[in-house]
Amino acid sequence: MSEEAKLAYLQEKINDVKRNERTGALGIVMGGVFVGVGIVFNALGGGVNFLAAISLIAVGIFLCTFGIYAAEHYAGQYKNLIIELEKLATSVPKCPKCGKELPKGTFEFCPFCGASLKR
Ligand SMILES: [Zn+2]
Repeated sequence: MSEEAKLAYLQEKINDVKRNERTGALGIVMGGVFVGVGIVFNALGGGVNFLAAISLIAVGIFLCTFGIYAAEHYAGQYKNLIIELEKLATSVPKCPKCGKELPKGTFEFCPFCGASLKR
């Protein structure tokens, strides 16, 4: 795989992971809403309401647990991907102007576009 293909692959993975992390966060919020509604249902009293409340709270806790697990899992993956991305970005020196990989050796100017490489 070329550096560019790897970079594109990593960026795609990062987008995926971010999306999944957001889904996890949404699960936590939804779970919270379910638990909240369940508590309100229960406060209203009555046998039927109690059963509905327990079901809602159970679903809410499940969603929250799932959401926390997913968010943590993908947050960890995200961190690893960023590390990989940083490694990749620093492994090969690139021209800051045209982005082409620079051949080994030191250049004062980019051999492709002529941009100054002095920092
Ligand atoms: Zn260049």
